[in-house]
Amino acid sequence: MSKVFKVLKLGSGIGQREPHQKRRRALVAGGAGFLGSHLCERLLRDGYDVVALDNFHTGKRYNLNTFLRDPRFTCIEHDIVDPLPAGLEVDEIYNLACPASPPHYQADPIHTFKTSVLGSLNLLELARRSNAKIFQASTSEVYGDPFVHPQPESYFGNVNTHGPRSCYDEGKRSAETLFFDYSRTYGLDIRVARIFNTYGRRMQPDDGRVVSNFIVQALRGEDLTVYGSGLQTRSFCYADDLIEGFIRLMNAPHAPAHPVNLGNPGEFTIMELATLVVGYTNSRSKIVHRPLPIDDPRQRKPDISFARDNLGWEPRINLAQGLAHTVDYFDTLLYGSRMITGAAAS
Ligand code: NAD
Ligand code: UDP
Repeated sequence: MSKVFKVLKLGSGIGQREPHQKRRRALVAGGAGFLGSHLCERLLRDGYDVVALDNFHTGKRYNLNTFLRDPRFTCIEHDIVDPLPAGLEVDEIYNLACPASPPHYQADPIHTFKTSVLGSLNLLELARRSNAKIFQASTSEVYGDPFVHPQPESYFGNVNTHGPRSCYDEGKRSAETLFFDYSRTYGLDIRVARIFNTYGRRMQPDDGRVVSNFIVQALRGEDLTVYGSGLQTRSFCYADDLIEGFIRLMNAPHAPAHPVNLGNPGEFTIMELATLVVGYTNSRSKIVHRPLPIDDPRQRKPDISFARDNLGWEPRINLAQGLAHTVDYFDTLLYGSRMITGAAAS
């Protein structure tokens, strides 16, 4: 066994398959993360054998608790920047491995860039060897601070190449390039999703992104930290809606010829979000302003016409419903089961 990986949980998702074994096998890089763990759960529910690869940088073992004992689930501790474990045979690959929150991806920017570029290369080579379909979790950050609003997939974006966010934005842009070059060069079946801000259960309290920060601050009775004026906008998608979009994109009969926006087109200022969170948590927290981070995009809203028309996909959970579930999740995580909004029971 190579020194660079460790099997944490062995299931039927690894090793050579018996000729009679018909179940499809999916690899989820970043499977212990917020979105990755929801995806693993969904794929197991859909009848797949699942192998999660994760270096546990931001992912947590307890994200895997609800399905860790499933005999079809395998978990390998591995950094995708390093050569992948030998002998992996998979039908589908989902690449979600990459820290997604600004404080986490900026903590080691060179490794973040390597994760998107070298990690994608390693997974693309695995897809090529295994003749597997491969999905890339790209991001609305490829649009940078956009001049076109809302953002359609055809917009090339406005991205700083050398700022503190660039390791993530440019890493993801480079990964998109690699995916499409592998498709053109080797005929690989690729699916690339541009994900807009997504939130929900299994975010970490110290994740650092705005929804989890505000909810945790409100539940703890701390000030809510709005960066800048709070007039910048974002569009927030609930995790369950997004995972449905992943599955539809991966299973569409024909691979789209370009990346596909997945997000909730509802657009809110950060001040509006802060006010909603204070209301849903019945918190006495105050809203305070902190400096706006460098290159913070002023607006974000996906044009999801392509996904709507071609995948039959659109979000079903609005911000009020999604926030209620997420508040209950964090409340239980931090304080036990008070369920202050009652949403988790519904
Ligand atoms: P997350 O930080 O919870 O998950 C990322 C996972 O990848 C973690 O489990 C982490 O440990 C793992 N990881 C990071 N670097 C790795 C490496 N080099 N090798 C192996 N594993 C590694 O974040 P998330 O929100 O679940 O994001 C998942 C993916 O979706 C990321 O690729 C992110 O860029 C993308 N995305 C997310 C959002 C969002 O709003 N949640 C928006 C756009 C794009
Ligand atoms: N933000 C904020 N307070 C926080 C965390 C973030 O006001 O505690 C702002 C941030 O400056 C940005 C928006 O919320 O304008 C979304 O930030 P996040 O890090 O969640 O995502 P991204 O900037 O990558 O879209």
